[in-house]
Amino acid sequence: MNKCLRRQGTFLEKRSLDPQKLLMKTIINIPIDKIKPDVAGVLKTQGVPPPPGPPPPGRVTSLYHSAEELFLKLAAPTAIMAEVTIPQFTEIFKGNGLNEPDTPLEKIFPRASQLALFAFTLGPEVCLEIEEQLNTHNFALGYMLDAVSSYSTDKGAGAAQNIFLEHLTSTGQADASTRALLYSPGYCGWHISGQQKLFEYLKPEEIGIHLNKSFLMTPLKSISGVLVAGDKRIHRFKNSYTFCVHCPSKNCRERIAQNP
Ligand code: SF4
Repeated sequence: MNKCLRRQGTFLEKRSLDPQKLLMKTIINIPIDKIKPDVAGVLKTQGVPPPPGPPPPGRVTSLYHSAEELFLKLAAPTAIMAEVTIPQFTEIFKGNGLNEPDTPLEKIFPRASQLALFAFTLGPEVCLEIEEQLNTHNFALGYMLDAVSSYSTDKGAGAAQNIFLEHLTSTGQADASTRALLYSPGYCGWHISGQQKLFEYLKPEEIGIHLNKSFLMTPLKSISGVLVAGDKRIHRFKNSYTFCVHCPSKNCRERIAQNP
């Protein structure tokens, strides 16, 4: 567990690195309340309609609270962020040359005012606990803890967007029309192998995130990508790319609607 990181407060490190590589790198302890799960949100991901729908059975709510208690005890939400220039990110985005020939991100990031590489993890202990619950046949609690952790990991993206935007606003680099959104390898035409170059630059190993040969992260409850800040209009696009046909979530529509 990243005990040493957790002890040191919110902004742990702010140091200048090789300006040809990274303009600034920061390790951040994300306060747990920024990613705290909620019963309605987690159960919605499991197909239970939120209020005013019928209330879930008491045993489901009770299971949720047991999982939330474990989560709050074990999660160590930590992020690493490093600003990059547009030319630097152009190289990172090329990755291993496996991206789709036409992607939304390649049209968005050149119009950004600021870019930052980003990775976030809940830490290893909550993932080990999920495994432990499943291995000891406590399937219901294991699956609920998995759902709680996935939900909170997704909230980590929102927390990162807010932290980046607050940083830019407080330093006079953003105004009311600025939006900062996270784009990740493995989505929307950015090939999953793009993780390799992103990791080479950002080095999330410093907060305990590692890549395996399939470019998946461990701990599993981690996210990575690039935070793109700029005028809200740069994030709007039509989801008419060839790969959109196979997209089950179409969640770009929700993101655009949430950032008017
Ligand atoms: S429809 Fe899916 S794949 Fe297409 S841009 Fe939106 S989120 Fe990405």
